[in-house]
Amino acid sequence: MSKFFNTKFANLDAYVPGEQPQDMQYIKLNTNESPYRTSQNVIDAAKTASLKLNLYSDPNMSELTHKIQQVCRIPESKIMCTNGSDEALNFVFMAFCTGSNNKVAFPDVTYGFYKVFAQLYNIDFNEISLKDDFSIDYRDYCGINKNIVIANPNAPTGLSIPLWQIEEIVKSNPNNTVTIDEAYIDFGGESAVPLIEKYSNLIVVRTFSKSRSLAGARLGYVVADEELIQDLNKLRFSTNPYNVNAMTQACGIAALQDNFYYTDNCKKIVAARENTKKALESMGFDVINSDTNFLLIKNDKIDGKLLYLELKKRGVLVRHFNTERIKQYNRVTIGTPEQMKVFINTVNDILRSQK
Ligand SMILES: *Cc1c(COP(=O)(O)O)cnc(C)c1O
Repeated sequence: MSKFFNTKFANLDAYVPGEQPQDMQYIKLNTNESPYRTSQNVIDAAKTASLKLNLYSDPNMSELTHKIQQVCRIPESKIMCTNGSDEALNFVFMAFCTGSNNKVAFPDVTYGFYKVFAQLYNIDFNEISLKDDFSIDYRDYCGINKNIVIANPNAPTGLSIPLWQIEEIVKSNPNNTVTIDEAYIDFGGESAVPLIEKYSNLIVVRTFSKSRSLAGARLGYVVADEELIQDLNKLRFSTNPYNVNAMTQACGIAALQDNFYYTDNCKKIVAARENTKKALESMGFDVINSDTNFLLIKNDKIDGKLLYLELKKRGVLVRHFNTERIKQYNRVTIGTPEQMKVFINTVNDILRSQK
């Protein structure tokens, strides 16, 4: 740490992204990306947009927002686009969880970035334990008088809670914001977006990274009451008004035009997920039910970290978390059926060599 760095950041544990190794070709099942490339229209749109890179991007993102309205049926005044949904979460923590209302609660096993933002902004955070089966008990969040952030479906568990339970949480905390992170909603679970009309303290965060094959383009958006969107825009214009670059805006518009291609890919991934789950269970794995594009798995015959390392040696990357509650598990992103076949065969080889 340099002598110039604010000492309040000395103990900040930065977010650690999944590996993006450049040394060899892996079957990459570790960061929940789509195994399917973007559609041709998206590639063409990026090329066309690249001809105008001498100009700034549209800071109001009018065309993109309009397209989200058409495809996702959300009023434009209730949408703000961001540089990935991580940036959306950053603005939400900065805007609504600091100051006089600086308390936030989220599950003890969830997306690691929530804790990073809480630490970054010095927010008093409370990690609420999931039940033994990794499910969320919605009653733990009712009337707690704190801001709340829940990924639904949750990551890295894959489990979701029904919409009526989200509504109970939102309803019982009227003086705090409730943020639902819907990074995986296109693979399962019920979206909370329809509740936005009814509750002015509900925030939904979404991304193009997982179901729309645009992780590298960095595009997400927030859906919330107009007044909250105005607050978030104030912070966006006070930090980076051109937060979504011109090529990414064009990619987002084209991806929404090709909606069918992406919903079809989601169906393929869901089918591969269920086949992989069955195959793993027949090999003695515990597999948590998943509404996402990944599975959280463990096998009492092999240590979680060891399985991760053995897979990596053989060219298959999965995600292992070194945290107490899930260190015996691995999170496996669902790839193409061919990739999942290689994954299953490789796991089989490893289990056999362990005997
Ligand atoms: C991947 C992920 C994100 C971040 O996605 P980006 O839009 O790529 O920043 C946010 N929340 C959860 C739960 C995720 O899994």
